[in-house]
Amino acid sequence: MDATKYKNQILAKAQELGFFYCGFSKAGFLEDEAPRLENWLKNNHQGKMSYMENHFDKRLDPSKLVPGAKSVISLLFNYATDHKQLDVEAPKISKYAYGEDYHYLVKERLVELFSFIKDLVGEVEGRAFVDSAPVMDKAWASKAGLGWIGKNSNLIHPKEGSFFFIAELITDLDFEQDGPMKDYCGTCTKCIDDCPTEAIVAPYVVDGSKCISYLTIELKDELLPNEFKGKMDNWAFGCDVCQDVCPWNRFSKPHKEERFQNPKLLDFTKKDWMDLNEETYRELLKRSPLKRAKFKGIKRNLLFIDPTTK
Ligand code: SF4
Ligand code: SF4
Repeated sequence: MDATKYKNQILAKAQELGFFYCGFSKAGFLEDEAPRLENWLKNNHQGKMSYMENHFDKRLDPSKLVPGAKSVISLLFNYATDHKQLDVEAPKISKYAYGEDYHYLVKERLVELFSFIKDLVGEVEGRAFVDSAPVMDKAWASKAGLGWIGKNSNLIHPKEGSFFFIAELITDLDFEQDGPMKDYCGTCTKCIDDCPTEAIVAPYVVDGSKCISYLTIELKDELLPNEFKGKMDNWAFGCDVCQDVCPWNRFSKPHKEERFQNPKLLDFTKKDWMDLNEETYRELLKRSPLKRAKFKGIKRNLLFIDPTTK
């Protein structure tokens, strides 16, 4: 069903729900991404994220996730903030983790948007995704004209930078496609030059196994690899360097979402982190993305960046 005439109503509802951008693309096999993904896996850039090796076809073809898929509706949810960790010496936490885990909030809003679309259009087959299934969210958002994939492999919106979450609805509705958008990285190489672990091994290629986000969150080993000793730039959970240095992020504006703020976490001093025990961890990090690394993982990261941690 051609649902292009409903686009404006969907856009308005998406904005009302807090998504600051919404774009439409045609669902189909991601031909350009297929060889890139294949090479990336062949070079073991996924490290121990074995889930990346699974569902190769599903990643590239949305009709394998939603039979009869015709469109991908991509949505951006802002998490840019001017809040900072109070103690400049405290182990650093990625901005996206300053408050409640985005999976809860963004999924709730996405499900609401999908209900709205069903009420508006009638019977719709589809599924909602927030970083929860093998969906190449950046590729779809870029096809939908919401930005381009930069040399740091993040989606960059020309008016907002890259501090946002990406969500999508894959549906059997047909829409005119909005994108894609041109690449505006130009001759810039700031993200490549400033990455603390040299994880951006070539423009547009991040070796996940060297990335601090992978090391501090995804890697479940008891110890972090010694080759990264002294290179972690004090990051204990995630890393924002390649986004912080990106000139396009000077356009980002702070979000207004209270649930993305946990003032207690930002007030935590270096000493508080070093003394962190399981009870405080549970209390402080209720519904936090840091839960993904588990207490053991956070302690491991803290010890790695500062061996004086208790
Ligand atoms: S997140 Fe940090 S470690 Fe990973 S590529 Fe970007 S700058 Fe490098
Ligand atoms: S820092 Fe420069 S090269 Fe890297 S993503 Fe941003 S604009 Fe592109």
